[in-house]
Formats: sequence, structure tokens, C-alpha cells
Amino acid sequence: MANYLSKDEFENLASRLESNIIHSFRLAKQDILDLQDHFLNLSQSQKLIVEMIKELREHEIQIHAAIQNLYKKDQIKHVENSDSKYLLTELKESEKRISQLINSASKEKILIKEVASAPIIHIVASKTSTKFHTSNCPYAHNIKPKNLIRFKDKTDAKNKGFKACSCLTEN
Ligand SMILES: [Zn+2]
Repeated sequence: MANYLSKDEFENLASRLESNIIHSFRLAKQDILDLQDHFLNLSQSQKLIVEMIKELREHEIQIHAAIQNLYKKDQIKHVENSDSKYLLTELKESEKRISQLINSASKEKILIKEVASAPIIHIVASKTSTKFHTSNCPYAHNIKPKNLIRFKDKTDAKNKGFKACSCLTEN
């Protein structure tokens, strides 16, 4: 009967479906790997900042101790004492750097939150069209997996002869 698929047609369909599924899985896997890399980089730079803050704090404690000693020796009364002047300047510098580092550390945290919550957007096109889209464009949603092409970025898509859809030119 005409409504039934032949064995060949069925096998053909099944193998196309299988390769589409494999392709989709590969894309998803790549997304996860990309995200992992990103998190690794961010957490590494955060660790570095935390280490630097620790070091500066230790340095600050040492300076405090040195100043305390100077007080004990009653030397601080002499404002012209170059040691105490030097230590006070160091202390101020160190405090400034600590607040700068805390600032950038909290910026990193915001960045991590943004990365974690941002949807993953790719530049995609259909083999059957000449325009490329962001992956959240309604046109992109209609691209069949077997026709889906994914680009590194907009330049990559342009270099391959595609033109930007309005979803990309409007922002
Ligand atoms: Zn579009």
C-alpha cells in the first residue's frame, strides 16, 4: 500500500533521524563544554584575587604591628620620624589596593551570575537560506536540524556568504 514506507525508505528515515539526534547532542555537548571552560576561567581568576587579598591583609597586619611597636617606643610622637611616616603611607596604599581588589572580586561574582543565567545564543543559518540569525530568532526555531549550520560568530557567517537577519541588525 502506498501509505506504508518501504523498508529502504524506513531505513533511510531512521538513519537521518539518528544523525540529526547525534548532531543535536554534539551541539549540546559543545555548549556544556564551553560553559565549563568559562566557569573554570572565572573561578581561577577569582581564586587569584582572593589570594592577593589575603596577601595584602597579611601585609597590612604586619604594618599595623610595626606601627604599634613604634607607638610603644613612643617614637610616633615625632611626626618627622621617617619610619612611621613611611609605614602610614604604606598602610594607606595597602588599604586602597584591598578595596580595589574587593571591588573587582565582586564584579567577577556578578559576571559569574550573568554567565550562569544568560541564555546561550549562537549564530545559526539554514542550508536552504541565505540569512543568518541568532538562535533565539523565530526564524531560527523553524530551521530543521538537518539544515542547521552553526557559526563561531557573525563574522564567520558573513565570511561564508550569509547575510544578517533583522534579528541581528536591530540591536
Ligand atoms: Zn533572525
